[in-house]
Amino acid sequence: MSKILIIEDETDIADLEKDYLELSDFDVVVCNTGLSGLQRARSESFDLIVLDLMLPEMDGFEVCRQIRQDQNIPIIMVSAKKDDIDKIHGLGLGADDYMTKPFSPSELVARVKAHLSRYERLVGAGIAKSSNDTVEIRGLRIDKTARRVFIEGEERIFTTKEFDLLTFLAENPNHVYTKEELFREIWDMESIGDIATVTVHIKKIREKIEKDNSKPDYIETIWGVGYRFKV
Ligand code: CA
Repeated sequence: MSKILIIEDETDIADLEKDYLELSDFDVVVCNTGLSGLQRARSESFDLIVLDLMLPEMDGFEVCRQIRQDQNIPIIMVSAKKDDIDKIHGLGLGADDYMTKPFSPSELVARVKAHLSRYERLVGAGIAKSSNDTVEIRGLRIDKTARRVFIEGEERIFTTKEFDLLTFLAENPNHVYTKEELFREIWDMESIGDIATVTVHIKKIREKIEKDNSKPDYIETIWGVGYRFKV
């Protein structure tokens, strides 16, 4: 049974989240202050944390920062202010997701399940992030903070979109994505281009990371469907 820690000072919200998660068979612990939540996260092993931002004693930003120093479990941040989303991004805290209050409890349950299964896939594949912002797979190392890519320690230069595409695939291994899905994921709606853009970028990425493009070690073509990052 997966164990979830909710750090939330509004008890009616915390209770509602707890009820819904327990109905979905999760084991749930609630802490009402930032500091008690951080202490609990350090003394017990959880599978995922739902973290409110405005908290007494220590705010959610600081709690997230401190948990991330030694844990890679999924963290879903919750805030009443839309502006906080920019701040979460800007601070690079390593939160996996965020939700703006008010949200439906069933939406929370859906996101919790999605993050848990994604994390389990990564751990199961031996590709758990080796640190907060680095992904390492068979000689390929992606430094997300510095946005640099290395093959066997040797740096390869990537454009922004090539980097985003490679990182997305590497963080979601074994999942087959269609070109349409990848285009939607990496290019925003205003972008000029179409799914052929994805093909071109995959080709360029392969030239940089694969030894033999006809037998790729990393990005595999699933004919008629799309691409998959091999594990
Ligand atoms: Ca709060």
